[in-house]
Amino acid sequence: MPDIIVIGGGVIGSSIAYHLAVAGRAGDVAVIEPDPTYAWAATPRAVGTVRHVHGTPENVLMSSYGHAFYSAFPTHMAVNGEPAGMDFRKGGYTFMVWGKDAVAHAEANWRMQTSLGAGVELVDRARLRQLFPSLNVDEVDAALYSPNDGWIDPHAALMGFRRKARSLGVEYIQDRVVNLETSGKRVSTVLLESGKRLTPKIVVNCANCWAPDVCAMVGMKVPIAVMRRQTFYFEVRETLHPFGVTRDFGGLSFRTEGQGYVAGVTRLDEPRGFNWDVDHEWFDEVVWPKLAHRVKAFEALKVIRSWSGHYDQNELDSQPILGPWVGGLENFHIAAGFSGHGLQHAPAVGRGMAELLLEGRFASLDLSRFSYRRVVDNAPIVEHGPPA
Ligand SMILES: Cc1cc2nc3c(=O)[nH]c(=O)nc-3n(C[C@H](O)[C@H](O)[C@H](O)COP(=O)(O)OP(=O)(O)OC[C@H]3O[C@@H](n4cnc5c(N)ncnc54)[C@H](O)[C@@H]3O)c2cc1C
Repeated sequence: MPDIIVIGGGVIGSSIAYHLAVAGRAGDVAVIEPDPTYAWAATPRAVGTVRHVHGTPENVLMSSYGHAFYSAFPTHMAVNGEPAGMDFRKGGYTFMVWGKDAVAHAEANWRMQTSLGAGVELVDRARLRQLFPSLNVDEVDAALYSPNDGWIDPHAALMGFRRKARSLGVEYIQDRVVNLETSGKRVSTVLLESGKRLTPKIVVNCANCWAPDVCAMVGMKVPIAVMRRQTFYFEVRETLHPFGVTRDFGGLSFRTEGQGYVAGVTRLDEPRGFNWDVDHEWFDEVVWPKLAHRVKAFEALKVIRSWSGHYDQNELDSQPILGPWVGGLENFHIAAGFSGHGLQHAPAVGRGMAELLLEGRFASLDLSRFSYRRVVDNAPIVEHGPPA
C-alpha cells in the first residue's frame, strides 16, 4: 500500500514524486495517472519558457532553481547511465513595456531580480533596436532582457521526470481517482475508477485543471478555473535573425521554433472552461495584426499548425496554491493553480513539496506565501510581472 499518493502524473506530480523518491525516506510513493499519453494534459501543450523575469522573489528563485535543474537535466535524469534527452535552448527572454506605471514596475522588478542574482538587464529602446533589428519598438519605453533564459521541450521534461521517478521505485498506476473518503480530519481512502481502494498516509492533488474536481471530492473550494490558451506555429518567407522569447505588455509573445515561430496572446478575459477549438478568426483579427505590427516580415505569414491547451488559472492572484488544506483535512495537500508557469517551476515545486511532506517545512526555499492560507484570508499576492 503506498504511503504517499500523488494524484496526476504531469510534470508537477512527477517532479514531486521524483523529489520524494530521491530523498529516500518517503516510503512507497504512487502516482495515479489515467493517461500515459498525456493527450489532454497541460504539460506537453506548453510553450516551454523558463524565465527569471517575474514580479515576486519566490517566482524568480523558483525559476533560478528550474534553470539550473533543467540545464543539468540529462545528467539528473539519467537512468542506468543513459542520459535523458531534453533540449534547453537559451535563446533569451525579452519583456517589453510602455507607459509610466509599467516602466516603474519593470524597474522595480529588475532591481529585485538582480538583487537575487538573476542575469536580467533593463534596456532602453535604442538597445532593443541593436539587439533585434527587425523588431518594431516605436512605442516601447523599456524592456527586461535576460539573455541566458530560454525554453525547454516540455514533453521531454515530463518523460525525463517520469522515467527517473519510476527507476527510483515510484509506481505509476494507470487509473483515475473518482472519490476520496474521509475519517475525522483525514483522507482515509482513495477510490479509483478500476474499483481499487487505497489507504495512503498522505494525498497530494496535482491534477492541474482537474484539481478543483478532486478538491470537490472532499468539499475543498479552490479559486482555480480552466482557461484556454491558443498557440500558433507559423512560417514566413524571409530569413530573420532568431528571436528568443519576445513578449510585450499587450499580451503578445512569440519565439523562433525550428524553421518558423510559435506565438500566442495572453487573454485573461478568455471564457472559462475547457475549449479545445482553435479560433482562427481571432488569430486573423487579433494575433496576426499584433505580430505584423511587431515584425514587418510577419505581415506575410502562413500558419502551419495550431493547438489549444489550458491553464489552471488561479483567479485569486495567478499564483500556485502549495501545501496542506489549511483549515481542512490534515493529510490532503495541493500543488495546483500554476496559471501558465508550472513547467519552469516544477523542479522547485517538487523539491519544496517533498521537503514539506517529509520535514514539515520548506527547507531550501520558503514557499509558504503560496499556502492555501491566503485563499482563506482572501489575501492575494500582488505581482506586476508579465502575465503568464
Ligand atoms: C498553451 C500553454 C503554454 C504554456 N507555456 C508555459 C511556459 O512557457 N512555461 C511554463 O513554465 N509553463 C507553461 N505552461 C504551464 C504549464 O504547462 C503547466 O503549469 C504545467 O504543465 C502543469 O503541470 P501539471 O502536472 O500540474 O498538469 P498536467 O500536465 O495537466 O497534468 C495533470 C494530470 O492530472 C491527471 N488527472 C486529472 N484528473 C485526474 C484524476 N481524477 N485522477 C488522476 N489523475 C488525474 C491528468 O490526466 C493529467 O495528466 C503552459 C501551459 C499551456 C496550456
